[in-house]
Amino acid sequence: MVSLSDGARAYRGRFAPSPTGPLHFGSLVAALASYLEARARGGAWLVRMEDLDPPREMPGAADHILRTLAAFGMESDEPVLYQSSRHAAYAEHWQWLREHAGLYACNCSRASLRAAAGAGAPGETGPVYPGTCRRRPPADETDVAWRLPVDDVLIRFEDAVQGPQAQQLAREVGDFVLRRRDGLFAYQLAVVVDDAFQGITHVVRGSDLLASTPRQIFLQQRLGLPRPDYLHTPVATLAGGEKLSKQTGARPVDPARASETLHAALCFLGQPAPVELAHAPLSALWDWAHAHWQAARIPREMGRPAPPLSSGAPADMVQVPR
Ligand code: GLU
Repeated sequence: MVSLSDGARAYRGRFAPSPTGPLHFGSLVAALASYLEARARGGAWLVRMEDLDPPREMPGAADHILRTLAAFGMESDEPVLYQSSRHAAYAEHWQWLREHAGLYACNCSRASLRAAAGAGAPGETGPVYPGTCRRRPPADETDVAWRLPVDDVLIRFEDAVQGPQAQQLAREVGDFVLRRRDGLFAYQLAVVVDDAFQGITHVVRGSDLLASTPRQIFLQQRLGLPRPDYLHTPVATLAGGEKLSKQTGARPVDPARASETLHAALCFLGQPAPVELAHAPLSALWDWAHAHWQAARIPREMGRPAPPLSSGAPADMVQVPR
């Protein structure tokens, strides 16, 4: 498997938000880390809108996220790729996997899975699929999910922040879904197809996706696609340790407090931005960030408490410039 090491190809990074709500402190951290690392390596930074799950999306969130990023000073170097426009590509890869990788139909109900399955890998929310339909695929292929059979192999990779990683896919994850019962393509398929399509050489994102990476590497191997390098930052957490998210009540970041917020995000990422910059013009913060960013300073932690400012104004009060 080809690993795109430095120099082999020009650096191309990306930020890939799901438009389930406005940008919050946790997603700003992922945007900032991917942006600054791309700039430090003289590379391109792309935004990909992962709008492939309409039931989970919030109307207007995609535009809101892009306007918020712009208000903070981050704009995609290339036109934004919308996953909602990529169904034909996912369908093509899904079909190829059906023909060449043993992708199989599964009609197990959620309840039967909960009852039969073992606990998943650490950081992995889903249960391990027990292989029921792999042994006895359903005759009727309507109203089914599609699973990729995994091999009994150890997937290893070196994460630039979290260090050496290894996951035994068969034991810790099991055969995983690439197309859901409702017909929608799964994140794991879309992300792999699109990272390759966009020529992404370096994936920088939150540690909540660290446990998904071996599945993505396995899928890259199956599809004969190059493997990008990976860097997983700590995620912002609440005092109780839960990840900051729309579900846990994360407030949108407020462009009216851009310097303070960006300063907090830099400190969160281990970059010692001088305290006076929290109230300086945004351009002064960016100057400091470009001159001093060092990925090696990002703390090797899965999560860190979000700074107090992440509880900004309520969602409907945040003004994002049009
Ligand atoms: N869309 C995913 C999310 O918002 C991130 C995907 C990725 O960076 O690979 O959690």
